[in-house]
Amino acid sequence: MSKVKKKVKVIKIDVDKCNGCRACEMICSAFHANPKYSSINPAMSRIRLIREPLKDVYLPVYAGQHTAAECLGRDKYVIDGKEYDECDFCRASCPSRDVFKEPDSGLPLKCDMCEDDPPQEKPLCVQWCINDALTYEEREEEVEEEVKMEDVEIGLESMVDKYGLQKVMDTVARMSKKG
Ligand code: SF4
Ligand code: SF4
Repeated sequence: MSKVKKKVKVIKIDVDKCNGCRACEMICSAFHANPKYSSINPAMSRIRLIREPLKDVYLPVYAGQHTAAECLGRDKYVIDGKEYDECDFCRASCPSRDVFKEPDSGLPLKCDMCEDDPPQEKPLCVQWCINDALTYEEREEEVEEEVKMEDVEIGLESMVDKYGLQKVMDTVARMSKKG
């Protein structure tokens, strides 16, 4: 199998530099508003700030994958003597909480690294974070080329799963005689 280059985009988060200003949430929601920049609503942002000044907790978290089912257990982290709430580090849009969901429709939100045309020089949350709590890195990795199944192959595979290979082959043979 041949190798291809894949670009890996990384946003590094330095929680010690975050002061909870929420500029990242504002620009993300404005950039993803429809039309662009027509509104600011942090609830629509793909980055959310866990902000608890009394505990000195300022934690930017990016929206990741949607999950239909919530976890059976919960994680609770203590780092450098600071105790974070359950699920604080989780990136999932899940049924157990309201973050990373469009407020009106409830549809999941996911960070898309501000991919747009023309491309941004850096993700906008990184550009707007004047405290350098967010920094952007790109690297290339060599990966195996993905073999994309043709539509017909995907269809045939599901027919074989459903009816068995022999029945599918018999049907194709019968059809080809007719044709
Ligand atoms: S813009 Fe930077 S400093 Fe402000 S809340 Fe976001 S990550 Fe923290
Ligand atoms: S990279 Fe772009 S889409 Fe992702 S959180 Fe930052 S501003 Fe939002």
